Amino acid sequence: MRKPIIAGNWKMNKLVAEGARFVVDIRESVPSDEEVETVICAPFVHIPFISEAAREFHIKIGAQNMHYEESGAFTGEVSPKMLEDLLVDYVIIGHSERRQYFNETDESVNKKTKAAFEHDLLPIVCVGESLEQREADQTMTFVESQVRQALDGLTNEQAKQVVLAYEPIWAIGTGKTATSEQANEVCAHIRNVVKDQFGEEVAEAVRIQYGGSVKPENIEELLSMTDIDGALVGGASMKEDSFMKLVEAGK
Ligand code: PGA
Repeated sequence: MRKPIIAGNWKMNKLVAEGARFVVDIRESVPSDEEVETVICAPFVHIPFISEAAREFHIKIGAQNMHYEESGAFTGEVSPKMLEDLLVDYVIIGHSERRQYFNETDESVNKKTKAAFEHDLLPIVCVGESLEQREADQTMTFVESQVRQALDGLTNEQAKQVVLAYEPIWAIGTGKTATSEQANEVCAHIRNVVKDQFGEEVAEAVRIQYGGSVKPENIEELLSMTDIDGALVGGASMKEDSFMKLVEAGK
């Protein structure tokens, strides 16, 4: 059985005091991580504060990006070692906004995914097609190539622990959710790609989230699908009550 994972992605939102208050407000209601993993992916500057607020509660902390080098002359970047030092659990890698606005490539996604494992971080690797690609019937081949390149060179033990997030770009922040069938079809395909790359055991263990306009009204149906093991949520993760509804649905 794969454990559901609900991750909020605050993107570039909230001031530090607001982030910490959010965690304090929800922490006692977050269910045990035996039932559902609850992750908050916050901007870097929030991390020490929300980690402190979340300590001894069932909230895991995620970053939204990182560099793949441990240290060096990379002005403005944050390294995996720094995240490890702050006891960060997860790191989003290759979000479509980073691919689109910050030149993230399949190659850098692969380097970052490998670097995560060297620093005790679990990667949430994002893949997903544009509207143009969907309309040109290229979804499956495009997503397959993103998955293969992201996971290239991982050991089976590492690949098992990766979280893949299928996020069709046309559904992110647009209010247009993929239907649960559309989402599941691609998630099932991703699992098959992982099976081809790493074998059946890894494919059965790997968790695949759907992301793109997930909200309390549609999460249950999405999570009821065979190959969807969780959600990566932007907009609806920003308010305490809707985030907690999403987490509850994951139980
Ligand atoms: P959204 O964002 O839930 O606001 O569509 C999802 C994401 O970008 O991870």
